[in-house]
Amino acid sequence: MTAVDLIPDIVRVLHEGFRSGVLRDNQQRSVQLQRLRAMFVEQEDRLIDALVADVGKPRIEAYTTEIAFTINEIDDTLKHLDSWTKPGKVKVPITFKPGSAHLHPEPLGTVCIIAPWNYPVQLLFAPLVPALAAGNTAVLKPSEVTPTVAALIEELVPKYFDANTVAVVTGAVDETTALLEQRFDHIFYTGNGNVGRVVMRAAAEHLTPVTLELGGKSPAIVAADANIKVAARRIAWAKFLNAGQTCVAPDYVLAEDGIEDDLVAAIAEAVTTFYGADPRQSPDYARIVNERHHDRLMKLLDAGGYDATVIGGTGDRASRYLAPTVLAGVKPDAAVMDDEIFGPILPVLTVGDIDEAVRFVNDREKPLALYAFSSSDDVLDHVVANTSAGGVTLNHAVLHLAIPELPFGGVGASGMGAYHGKAGFDTFTHYKAVLDKPTRPDPSLMYPPYTNTKQKILRKFL
Ligand code: NAD
Repeated sequence: MTAVDLIPDIVRVLHEGFRSGVLRDNQQRSVQLQRLRAMFVEQEDRLIDALVADVGKPRIEAYTTEIAFTINEIDDTLKHLDSWTKPGKVKVPITFKPGSAHLHPEPLGTVCIIAPWNYPVQLLFAPLVPALAAGNTAVLKPSEVTPTVAALIEELVPKYFDANTVAVVTGAVDETTALLEQRFDHIFYTGNGNVGRVVMRAAAEHLTPVTLELGGKSPAIVAADANIKVAARRIAWAKFLNAGQTCVAPDYVLAEDGIEDDLVAAIAEAVTTFYGADPRQSPDYARIVNERHHDRLMKLLDAGGYDATVIGGTGDRASRYLAPTVLAGVKPDAAVMDDEIFGPILPVLTVGDIDEAVRFVNDREKPLALYAFSSSDDVLDHVVANTSAGGVTLNHAVLHLAIPELPFGGVGASGMGAYHGKAGFDTFTHYKAVLDKPTRPDPSLMYPPYTNTKQKILRKFL
């Protein structure tokens, strides 16, 4: 854990690094990105071991969602670095000619990246990629809820980066509070909305811009004409990946009247196909991150407000196991419908029609993700046009976040700002507006004294 009194110095060294120009040109930036890539390649096994230790992640899920995801982000960024950093020409109106204008991308300075525990490697390093590409030095704050991962990151980062380029601060509330007292040029926070408010308040002291990647209850709407089997399989995969501890997991399902029984049966069947009759024995099923979250989830189940547990419903606190659980006949006022579930419990509610589903979503906070399943383009278009969400996947779930060209972020209560691909580069960049005028001609028209003739001409052309 980082000593609180060291934190101002850690940040000062990063500010000095930025000012001294450690990331001024693309060559320096690409060296740092290559170092990050080397860290991921060389330390893959240790990173995965740590993820298994803290969250019981299946190794292949740890690889795909944390290691490969970040390496892909690095590779995509390296491929585009030259084009993204190139000044972009813009048009100059005839009245301001001769002259040329352009947008000059410049780094913000020193940035702070704070990550949560559910994808503790990806969510710390995927924002670092565009931060470095844009030329910023950065301090990384991993989550204390995944201590093995945090300790490993604290050990590895100084081996691959100089302290004036990338540094790590570890710890919990006291350390993060001390960190947030420092002046940054951008704060990139991923986690729950309550801490998001703490981060934004601290940022306001220094007028620091923030990106807040938050959560929320992401709905999956299933229309009566959907391919039920495919929808069930995709929802089950997205929900029970990482034991439901995924910010874009379908939080709950809105099934159009008439298909609920078939849908819950198909989801239950998919669960058994994926994880076997006893998911506890499956090497492909993760664990709940800690006892506190296990207790929270069991309490949601105990609180009722639903007709039946179709599958699952059992847990073991000591091993932090919670069975993939599907609840049918869930009432809108059930405890599971209050806050983001963030665990392997899938409530299925019935709605009369798609318009009722749309109203249900719009009556609540804007979600981070929204999924709609239907064989009709009209239905899908209608849902997209009439709801608001950070991002959408149609007839599947979660996958929109893996497309580099799609900015990833929330809206309203699910966050502000975005990243992945160019959107990440833009987040950590200031596009400086530059107008370049030749010294000649220099007509006196715009200068005082504003004679009547000048005024007439100015009024005519401006
Ligand atoms: P968490 O408990 O690990 O907290 C996140 C970070 O905030 C940690 O680094 C922690 O040290 C810091 N923190 C906690 N309390 C603080 C305080 N009082 N002051 C300052 N810093 C503090 O993670 P979490 O918040 O439980 O994460 C889960 C939430 O994150 C869910 O809501 C999920 O949907 C959301 N999430 C969003 C995304 C996204 O990309 N939008 C991704 C993953 C998770």
